[in-house]
Amino acid sequence: MRNGEIKRVLVKFSGEAMAGANGFGIDSEILRYIAGEIKLLVENNIEVGIVIGGGNIIRGVTASAGGIIRRTSGDYMGMLATVINAVAMQEALEHIGLDVRVQSALEIKEICESYIYRKAIRHLEKGRIVIFGAGTGNPFFTTDTAATLRAVEIGADMIIKATKVDGVYTKDPNKFEDAKKLDVLSYDEAMQEHIKVMDDTAIALAKDNRLPIVVCNMFREKNLLEIIRDNAGICSIVK
Ligand code: UDP
Repeated sequence: MRNGEIKRVLVKFSGEAMAGANGFGIDSEILRYIAGEIKLLVENNIEVGIVIGGGNIIRGVTASAGGIIRRTSGDYMGMLATVINAVAMQEALEHIGLDVRVQSALEIKEICESYIYRKAIRHLEKGRIVIFGAGTGNPFFTTDTAATLRAVEIGADMIIKATKVDGVYTKDPNKFEDAKKLDVLSYDEAMQEHIKVMDDTAIALAKDNRLPIVVCNMFREKNLLEIIRDNAGICSIVK
């Protein structure tokens, strides 16, 4: 997109998406489906980085709500959850013949590579998918911020937040009939409290680096590829 053409993207999936209808854990059919959508990008010569959340397993805030687990420990537990999802997604992508590396912000050397920026770039240049695990490696951040950070670091042309809805709405479309979809909005508009795109840290980072944020429905088949070709109407874009 920076030269009018999209060559490299970072796709962010929430952990919850991995769970499917179960609401917890990892659903094999969802893995299979997402892997197929990512394959379409690779086949079209798009370099792909992926960040997956951990909400299907544990979130720091929820883990610490009982008063036993301190927030910082809860957050590290959440980061480990994202690595579990990353390894599962790696298996799904390899299962259909794609070349993948997981890089973790926390060192877990028996399971995956550690995050090394230059190595990540090299993998991408060789057509390998890189899944970035363990968030930013720091507590009190979200995987949306981690995804934005990695997108900026690898020079992605856009970050695609793959969700259950087809874009950003003025209100919750599941609750309000008069909710309107916003096709394009500014970073400042995206930071307004009622517009839930990403947390402010993530949006501020995207704004500072002019990184477009695309919000789309991951369950609409071929959506990721169509968005990259021509995003008119099927998503929202923050830029
Ligand atoms: N987390 C963190 N630092 C990061 C990224 C994630 O501490 O840089 C922790 C945090 O506890 C968070 C959990 O990992 O709740 C899972 O990530 P998130 O809630 O963003 O996942 P999602 O909602 O996308 O499934």
